Amino acid sequence: MRLIETIAAVCRRPSRCPACQQRMRPGYECTRSHVVLRLEFGAERQLPRVRYGNERRDFGAGNGLPCPDCKVNAGELHHPGCDVERCPHCGVQSYGCEHILATVECGSGR
Ligand SMILES: [Zn+2]
Ligand SMILES: [Zn+2]
Ligand SMILES: [Zn+2]
Repeated sequence: MRLIETIAAVCRRPSRCPACQQRMRPGYECTRSHVVLRLEFGAERQLPRVRYGNERRDFGAGNGLPCPDCKVNAGELHHPGCDVERCPHCGVQSYGCEHILATVECGSGR
């Protein structure tokens, strides 16, 4: 019984973003606003990240729900590694997209 309670407590605790170190919960968007992309012929480019709610598919933002994975509110920046975030170049899931080299603060190098 005690073990089950311990596991439940761990699951309820919001996890921290590896990039901005904030706990993932509504109202705490990521501070990294851009991604560095590797495009055709090895060219690199920085683009603004796709904010929650701007995905081609609706993940709940239309109904006022926070991101189902990283918990940010509509219009806020996902935390890197979120399953919902899309690549601003090709529109597929960012997590695992071959274009994305790094998630960075605007203007910072790579
Ligand atoms: Zn973050
Ligand atoms: Zn998210
Ligand atoms: Zn891509």
